[in-house]
Amino acid sequence: MDKQNMEEKIEELLRELTLEEKLDMIHGAGLFRTEGVPRLGIPPVRFSDGPMGVRQEFMNDRWIPLSNNDDFVTYLPSNSALAASWSRELARKTGRVLGEEARGRGKDMILAPGINIKRDPLCGRNFEYMSEDPKLTEELAVPLIQGIQENDVAACVKHFALNGQETNRLMVDTEVDERTLRELYLPAFRAAVQKAGTLSLMGAYNRYDGIHCCENPRLLEEILREEWGYDGTVVSDWGAVHKTKEAAEVSMDIEMSVYPNFDEYCFAQPLKEAVERGEVKEEAVDDKVRNILRMMFRLKMLGDEKRERRAGTYNTSAHREAALRAAEESIVLLKNEQNRLPLSAEGLERLSVIGPNAAAVHSGGGGSAEIRALYEISPLMGIRMYLGGNTQVCFAEGCHASPAASKEETQGDANWQEKSLETQGPANAAKRTDDCAEEALKKRKELFEEAVALAKSTKDVILVGGLNHDFDVEGKDRQDMKLPYGQDELIEAVLDANPDTVVVLVAGSPVEMPWRDKAKAIVWCYYAGMETGAALANILFGRVNPSGRLPETFPVRYEDTPTFENGEFGREDKIVYREGLYVGYRYYEARGKRPAFCFGHGLSYSRFVYKDLRLALDENAEDGVFAEVSFTVGNRGPYEGKETAQIYVGEEAPNVDRPAKELKGFCKVAPGVKEDVRCECILTKEAFSYYDTEERAFVVKPGIYKIFVGASVEDIRLEGSLKITGTYRLE
Ligand code: BGC
Repeated sequence: MDKQNMEEKIEELLRELTLEEKLDMIHGAGLFRTEGVPRLGIPPVRFSDGPMGVRQEFMNDRWIPLSNNDDFVTYLPSNSALAASWSRELARKTGRVLGEEARGRGKDMILAPGINIKRDPLCGRNFEYMSEDPKLTEELAVPLIQGIQENDVAACVKHFALNGQETNRLMVDTEVDERTLRELYLPAFRAAVQKAGTLSLMGAYNRYDGIHCCENPRLLEEILREEWGYDGTVVSDWGAVHKTKEAAEVSMDIEMSVYPNFDEYCFAQPLKEAVERGEVKEEAVDDKVRNILRMMFRLKMLGDEKRERRAGTYNTSAHREAALRAAEESIVLLKNEQNRLPLSAEGLERLSVIGPNAAAVHSGGGGSAEIRALYEISPLMGIRMYLGGNTQVCFAEGCHASPAASKEETQGDANWQEKSLETQGPANAAKRTDDCAEEALKKRKELFEEAVALAKSTKDVILVGGLNHDFDVEGKDRQDMKLPYGQDELIEAVLDANPDTVVVLVAGSPVEMPWRDKAKAIVWCYYAGMETGAALANILFGRVNPSGRLPETFPVRYEDTPTFENGEFGREDKIVYREGLYVGYRYYEARGKRPAFCFGHGLSYSRFVYKDLRLALDENAEDGVFAEVSFTVGNRGPYEGKETAQIYVGEEAPNVDRPAKELKGFCKVAPGVKEDVRCECILTKEAFSYYDTEERAFVVKPGIYKIFVGASVEDIRLEGSLKITGTYRLE
């Protein structure tokens, strides 16, 4: 349907609707749905979380799962895992699966992806977010959203904006300077709107400049609608609307919440009364309805195209295959001294697997990102599946992952507590034993000693530790960056007993690794979905060559972070982003601090060489191709593999403060053994620009711009420079 025709139809429907019917459309009538208007054939909007797959069904008005046996789904790699793949292709495929499953489950909107910038490693929701870098986030978010929406289901990009911590998330205020806002925190959202064409977007819980994001005219009117030209739907986070008039008068279209008193939501009875008293104009309501109807037409929920709407499906073998591929490419080989990996499975008689995450599964936790997975292959199961029955695989937990002492609320609702206890998997739901302290200590010692003895007596040992969703979780931030349950002591002792031990960490956010110099091989695995264990085994035994790269910096200690330095994280009242642009690698480079593992880092079983850098600049080009960067990547190792070549740009002697280098492009290529692949990357003017607060626009200034091509932000292999003579103001 063309736009004009659609807008006319919207106006026709609008003329038919009563105020009550319009109000029904703009607020929750269930925890995950609005009310439709059957009289006019307008259906409700049906939502579901979330980023790792379609969530289970709940009662309409209680956070109690229906526990039907038909809502198990494909559990996909978390956004952090997907980001570690640095693969646009896998982002699109993952999006397609998510969208197809959402439609298959009868949803209109999937509350994903989460694209906030990871400002501090302790943020509880980092596992749901992609990266510390706006360019990497944008490059993966765009195909992911497009993949979702190919299925006639809306992506709901969240959380707009500045949702950088969970501590007091409903009230905390955020202050950030304009340039940092524009350069770090908004670009991925802007790309979601302008490049991916997202059909919906979720307003965040927190405040920005003293005003809640869901009532914030600066964010919702000025930037989103006026500047970016967004004509989709804005949905509030669940319980993020506080004031009727304020929210009604900005472009906030659908109010959702965690409570079942639907008629008392701001956009229900209170807004009706405000309109009747003349405090809010009915046109404000009309605008919201227009945005919703427009989304409905685009999703083929209305109109003649209804019969053509995609039906979707879920749990297909193709979906599982996609989950496996994405998981494999998300795993990052952090360290591999003396080619400790890959392990050889041939003739392997005995192998020991140790650690609290070896047999753990994670799909049932994390808050709204929880998944009722069709299955989840743990690392131990994946290893056993890979090796088969001729290898004796011994297992020792080493230390016990005791569930969090207190279950904090994850969605701001008392009922949620009941729900999360009921639904989390057996590992998480296990009740604290009443064992006296002495007995617990004894047990701990036994577990520890058993593991160390096993490590001593086996040649090949894999230790699988890390975090779980008691730490990587919505609603609270981590207290420190350390491994819990005494894992550091365990890892030290196991490494002393067997220095060849391979350490694998499964987690959603960085941890300190005080033993990292001792370990020969370290493998990092974000929550990677239902095929985690299978993917991990494929990497450990060399069926797949690792190709994941860190989408965030892993500092040595939490004390090294910019937010520790300025104290601006985790406070209840207000957070000032004092570090400005110096987030993640931008900060570590500026301070000359070496992290444990830098942004973009990840090893391969192969060795890649970089050569023949060629740069070209055409300041007059009209097709947006401003600069071209081309170079060759060659595989000089014994295995086929994928390399992610990263392109960073930095201005030499800039007149304004600028980070030394910033990611502006990347190519993931797969040269065969002894083969070369030519990479060609286009840089638009954006790549050289910064936000000029006086011009109120991104600008490019004349100067010398260095181009760095490398395997990580620290491992730069090729360098060149470009001279720009003109001045440009970008729209
Ligand atoms: C979360 C959202 C989620 C919503 C619905 C909120 O608590 O912040 O990300 O989509 O709940 O479950």
